[in-house]
Amino acid sequence: MTTVSTAVADIRRRIDRAAEAAGRTDQVRLLLAVKTVDAPRIREALATGETLIGHNRAQELRAVEPELTDVAHESHFIGHLQSNKVNQVMAWADCVQSVDSLRLAERLDRAAATRGRDAGVLIQVNTSGEDTKAGVDPAEAEALAEQVAALEHLQLRGFMTIGANTSDETAVRASYTALAQIRDQVAGSGAPGTERATELSMGMSGDLEIAIAAGATMVRVGTGVFGTRPAP
Ligand SMILES: *Cc1c(COP(=O)(O)O)cnc(C)c1O
Repeated sequence: MTTVSTAVADIRRRIDRAAEAAGRTDQVRLLLAVKTVDAPRIREALATGETLIGHNRAQELRAVEPELTDVAHESHFIGHLQSNKVNQVMAWADCVQSVDSLRLAERLDRAAATRGRDAGVLIQVNTSGEDTKAGVDPAEAEALAEQVAALEHLQLRGFMTIGANTSDETAVRASYTALAQIRDQVAGSGAPGTERATELSMGMSGDLEIAIAAGATMVRVGTGVFGTRPAP
C-alpha cells in the first residue's frame, strides 16, 4: 500500500519533471485537495513538509481545521461557496479560490472586515464552458477581477479553473492557456489592486503536467495523494 508520504513524494517528482520540461525556474506550489480526508491523514500529509490544503465544503473545513491548529499550514477554500457559509469559511480559510460573482466577493469583503483582516481570493473561471462547472464566463472574467480587486478587504491573488473533463489533451490545454491569458491581461491592466493577481491555480492529479506547461503556479492534487475517494 502506498503511504501518504510516498504519494506526496511521487507527486512532487511529477511537478518537478513537468516544470523542468517546460523550462520553468519559478516555484510551482502543491495544494493538497483534502475533500473527505480525515484530520489524521491530512496531518500525515502535512508532516512531509507540505503547507497548503484546500477544502471543498464549509462543513468539512469547520470539522477538520480545529484539529489542525498545532500544524503550520495555509488553508484555502476551493469548492462552491454558498452565501450562508461565508462567515464559517472566513473563520478558517486564508484564501477563497472559488469567487465567481461580485455578490459573493462583496460578502467575503464584509466578512473579512468584520474579522478585522484581509482575505486572499482567486477568481474562478469556467474555461471549459461545461454547464456543470462553476466559475465566471471567460468573457466576463477581466471585469469581475477588476471589481474584486477594488474591494478593500480582499486581496486579488490570481485565477483558478477546473480543466475540461475530457481525455482530449488539446481541450484541456486550451482551458489552461485561456486562464493564463486572462491572468496576463488582468495583471498587466494597471487597474488598482490587480498587480499582484499572478497566481494560476490549475491542474489536478490527472493533468498537472499540461497545466504546468501552460503556466500553473499552483496545482491542486487529491486522488494522487489520498487515493480515490467518493465524489464530493
Ligand atoms: C477534488 C478537487 C481537486 C483534486 O482533484 P484530483 O483529481 O482528486 O486530484 C482539485 N480541485 C478541486 C476544485 C477539487 O474539487
